Amino acid sequence: MKVFVDRELCYGSAECAHRVPAVFEFVDEYGVVRPGREETGEDPEVLEAAERCPSQAIRITGAP
Ligand code: SF4
Repeated sequence: MKVFVDRELCYGSAECAHRVPAVFEFVDEYGVVRPGREETGEDPEVLEAAERCPSQAIRITGAP
């Protein structure tokens, strides 16, 4: 499972970075995936962050 943030959609609420700081950070007013943390396995916290992103900007590929 890989995760990335679609910057076109992100409006910078920073919720992802607060929710899962090990994976997401807040840079230049946008949420981003920390370098090297794109491969998340099936981390339920990351799935939840994606579900709760208010702009649906968090994309997950390879989810079951
Ligand atoms: S939760 Fe969504 S809108 Fe908010 S910073 Fe993260 S990716 Fe952007």
